[in-house]
Order: sequence, then structure tokens, then C-alpha cells
Amino acid sequence: MDMDKNYTEAQISEQRYCDICTTKPAAYDAKTKRGPWAWLCKDCFEEFGIGLGLGRGQRLIFVDVRVTPLTGSQVGFDEDL
Ligand SMILES: [Zn+2]
Repeated sequence: MDMDKNYTEAQISEQRYCDICTTKPAAYDAKTKRGPWAWLCKDCFEEFGIGLGLGRGQRLIFVDVRVTPLTGSQVGFDEDL
């Protein structure tokens, strides 16, 4: 079990924008040098972030929560007895 990975990555399904520059997509949810946590793009994370890990910040991993339904071609029976 990779414990460290649990505290350096966060899965989200909705695109957020950087709280600092507000123009770029957020790549991190992290604590800033100024104190509060914020959504940060890569550039702002490098400037204002204090690092990754528990209590510091997580890199965002975008996941699509919608489950892809099985298509007809994937459903069938193998009759090769
Ligand atoms: Zn930014």
C-alpha cells in the first residue's frame, strides 16, 4: 500500500480554476505561503505552494465519474465449448 500517494494526490471530477490568477485550470489543491488553502495552477503552485503531502497540498487527478456503459458488442456468450 502506497500511503504517501494518498496524501499527495486528490481525485476530482470537476474542473476548477486557479484562485490566484483565476485564468488557468487548477492543478493543485494546496496550502499557500499566505496561509489559506487554494486551488492553484502549476505556475502559482510553484510560486505560492509549500509542497505536497498531508497538511500541505495535493496534486489534482481528474476523473470522469460517469461510468461508461457496456456496448452491445461487449455483451455476449462464448459458445466455444
Ligand atoms: Zn494560477
